[in-house]
Amino acid sequence: MNRRWGPIATGVALALTFLILVLLGTAGGSDTPAQTGDEPVAQGKAAPPAWMRRLRDGEKPPQFVLFSFDGAGSHDHWQRVLPLADKVNAHVTGFLSGLYLLPDQLRGTYNGPGHGTGRASISFGGTDADVATRVKDLNAALASGHEIGTHFNGHFCAGNEPSGGVWTGADWTSELDQFFDIVRAASARGLRVPETEIKGGRIPCLEGDPNAFLPVMADRAMTYDTSLTSDGIAWPSRKDGLWEFWVPVVKVPSLGGRKVVMQDYNLWYAMNGAKEEPGRDAELTADTLDTYRAAYQAAYNTNRAPLTIGNHFNDWSGGAFSLATEQFMTEVCVRANTVCATYSEVLRWMKLQDPAVLDTFRDKPRAQIS
Ligand SMILES: [Zn+2]
Repeated sequence: MNRRWGPIATGVALALTFLILVLLGTAGGSDTPAQTGDEPVAQGKAAPPAWMRRLRDGEKPPQFVLFSFDGAGSHDHWQRVLPLADKVNAHVTGFLSGLYLLPDQLRGTYNGPGHGTGRASISFGGTDADVATRVKDLNAALASGHEIGTHFNGHFCAGNEPSGGVWTGADWTSELDQFFDIVRAASARGLRVPETEIKGGRIPCLEGDPNAFLPVMADRAMTYDTSLTSDGIAWPSRKDGLWEFWVPVVKVPSLGGRKVVMQDYNLWYAMNGAKEEPGRDAELTADTLDTYRAAYQAAYNTNRAPLTIGNHFNDWSGGAFSLATEQFMTEVCVRANTVCATYSEVLRWMKLQDPAVLDTFRDKPRAQIS
């Protein structure tokens, strides 16, 4: 099983990623705050959705689609995703990079394992006003029924050593403890994301030893991870005390069926080496959308495994990948027998099921794009 970004091996590509992430970290920070940020939290009072029930004998599960956004710090992107999700009745998950809640002036309080204080591969939170905007976005997301998880802090990938790929359990403990310290401290800035609501995460660049980071997450009473890849679309399974929601590796139709980790950056790299080519933006959107559609059909027609759509809030290739994701959300979440839900919602649904029935789903061959 390939946990890595596959073809993303060159320093150039990684440097580009870092640059983009740095840019993203400050994007939109000076914009006006989200207007919905101060509305009361309505979640929990609403009646459970009709699909949140035990399946009848022989009934097929709904097709779950899990939209997830790593970093979760871009005001512009939250402003796009929140109304769209609302319109199509989708719940999404934002995996927050903790540093986006730490203003630049406090950067010295972060100590990335092996890197010393004040250093990171992504930007810190900017000004107090930038952080305030993000706090409102995250509050608004949670109040609308979306979920916040962790994308950890420093985003140290291969090439910026010691990267997450070589971190020990103690390193991951330090990184995750600091994430929660930052979230806790942000409550003084009005953040209403309780620590206990942060139940899972995705590691940066999908780089890390699961034997090192999964037990650390389980020790914090987290319930799921979504960092490991599977060949095809698979049902979540138990791993080191957590539920693993696999990031699928799928055949990309426009690449003649070449298998790629189905995440935005990996698709970009596979399609054109992660280069900005404005003349091809629309083509990349269409090819990515085709991949998502084919993955959905594969799962829907066979094992009905929850489909993880992993993204960053990014503007790569003219926003080609964000557009594809938003278009896919628009068309798929309103389909019959389809539910766009958060990770914790799917886990809640799984708990309602007969474990033996879930095992029969898990025993089916993983869904593949043919
Ligand atoms: Zn990332």
